[in-house]
Amino acid sequence: MRKVTLIPGDGIGPEVIDSCVKVIEATGIKIEFERVDAGAGVMEREGTPLPDSVLDSIRRNKVALKGPITTPVASGFRSVNVALRKALDLYVNLRPVRSFKGIESRYENIDIVVVRENTEGLYAGIERYTKRDGSEGETVRIITKKASDRIARFAFEYARREKRRKVTVVHKANIMKITDGIFLESARRISREFPEIEFEDRIIDNMCMQLVVKPELYDVLLTPNLFGDIISDLCAGLVGGLGIAPSANIGDKIAVFEPVHGSAPKYAGLDKVNPTAAILAGVLMLKYMGEKKAADSIEKAITESFKEGKKLTYDLGGDAKTSEFTDYVISKIL
Ligand code: NAD
Repeated sequence: MRKVTLIPGDGIGPEVIDSCVKVIEATGIKIEFERVDAGAGVMEREGTPLPDSVLDSIRRNKVALKGPITTPVASGFRSVNVALRKALDLYVNLRPVRSFKGIESRYENIDIVVVRENTEGLYAGIERYTKRDGSEGETVRIITKKASDRIARFAFEYARREKRRKVTVVHKANIMKITDGIFLESARRISREFPEIEFEDRIIDNMCMQLVVKPELYDVLLTPNLFGDIISDLCAGLVGGLGIAPSANIGDKIAVFEPVHGSAPKYAGLDKVNPTAAILAGVLMLKYMGEKKAADSIEKAITESFKEGKKLTYDLGGDAKTSEFTDYVISKIL
């Protein structure tokens, strides 16, 4: 039986991951989930938020399903998410965003995929105080040709495989001429190998404005690390919020699937939040594992549930609990 590492995470993580597992199991597919723990809860018990056993399990199973993990703001331990992506060299962060009928949002027919570089940029983790009294600091933004080439290649290969029409590279190379210059140049060079895919570039500030005003013009967005993080939340907001936005962290041999949203601690344990982002992360995982039939049946069940609109969680204007929405989706799985 295929084994998958399961990391429930912090806050609302265990609830949404449990919902995802139930929906996957309802398809009849046989997966053995190997549960390991990472995050703030583990930090208290084991003195580290990312025990080696977690990385070992993912390296063994090659695929993981993960809930959000709390990262203390401004002090405390470094982000487990960033550490995990770096340790396993998961250089792609793939964040598809699309409209669903039945979910009220400002736009219809949005279908955008953010391909975000996941290992360097402002997340390289090189940050220090430059004055002893703590009144000044600096962060180093690392961009390499190697990482820029491989993320650009992934974006174009993904566009070709998924029959997408256009790749837009997002940057600030007018100001950060060296770092974003390298990123932009990689995208330009690699785009020439994919003549059937339209290629263009946008400066990040203009990109944000364009996405709010005419998002239907955009298809695959290729971005450095921080810009992709921000833009993918913006895109999630265009189609109904973080509750429905999944993501995949992909390397050459290993992939970790998770919702885009965080651990939303104030909602933890209330059976209230929307599990769709986690369920759709499960769909991305099943597709990655070659289980297209199970993935399609879950996606169809979600699409129908939204279209009917009888059971929606609070963020989508309804009052259904996490568990009620989950059961409703399961009832639609053929
Ligand atoms: P968040 O995504 O946890 O929550 C922001 C708001 O979005 C919530 O208050 C809620 O209104 C809404 N929301 C989020 N998920 C939802 C869901 N499933 N259904 C309905 N509404 C939902 O962001 P935050 O408050 O900035 O971060 C909380 C913690 O999560 C922080 O410690 C942060 O570092 C961490 N985080 C982790 C990840 C990850 O593990 N990949 C990602 C983002 C944030």
